[in-house]
Amino acid sequence: MIFAKSAKDLDKMRAVGELIAEVREALRAMVAPGISTLELNNAADKMIRDAGAIPTFIGYHGFPYAICASVNHEIVHGFSKPDPLKDGDIISLDMAATYQGFVGDTATTVPVGTISEDLAQLIRVTEECLAYGIEASCVNNRIGDIGWAVQQHAEKFGYGIVRDYTGHGIGRNMHEAPQIPNYGRPGTKEKIRAGYCFAIEPMLNIGTADTRTLSDKWTVVTADGKPSAHAEHTLAVTPDGPEVLTLTKEQKSRQKAASAT
Ligand code: MG
Repeated sequence: MIFAKSAKDLDKMRAVGELIAEVREALRAMVAPGISTLELNNAADKMIRDAGAIPTFIGYHGFPYAICASVNHEIVHGFSKPDPLKDGDIISLDMAATYQGFVGDTATTVPVGTISEDLAQLIRVTEECLAYGIEASCVNNRIGDIGWAVQQHAEKFGYGIVRDYTGHGIGRNMHEAPQIPNYGRPGTKEKIRAGYCFAIEPMLNIGTADTRTLSDKWTVVTADGKPSAHAEHTLAVTPDGPEVLTLTKEQKSRQKAASAT
């Protein structure tokens, strides 16, 4: 069953969304050649706890870290490590916090130093696919419309769309109904209603969509070893359209200023 959130619930979803967005942007600013994913993880853990929240990933089905740090051909659920990131890498950072009983979930893929044009395009198109998925998250649309919006854009570039992992409903729990695949047919699956909250998270690969899980039982990598990018926002469906919850205070005021002009 899909839970529609009350006005009071939505205020808490906004609070946790902004909290985890601030952590995401702080981590983005830290990414540079030489820093390790373990340092990024520890910084995120501290920022989330200092804000009075809990890193939702820790202990989730036994996951041991506050963030998922997935480098290059790693798609999702990468472990944080002491090895330094290298110039030309891309790093996907996925994180969630629980605050006042509600969860915010967000991910971004960040270039390490100078990256190739192929990788820059992969990141850019992944973010564009996320934006199309958000745009389709409107009252009376259906879940299949979101998947279609992501898929039609990704396919223009020939990218493999990961099918083994999907976006999801979110609220008091990180993973709620419905599942939100990054592919689909327009007009199919559940109808979208006001008060629904979704985490939409396209994962695009330069090569095959096929995945494989490493012996740590968590890290998911591309089957062909080619790079992968990931972007995720938590949003609320309102009568006026989708409201992205995982924006920083600054991003929200910039958005407001842009829509006023
Ligand atoms: Mg998620």
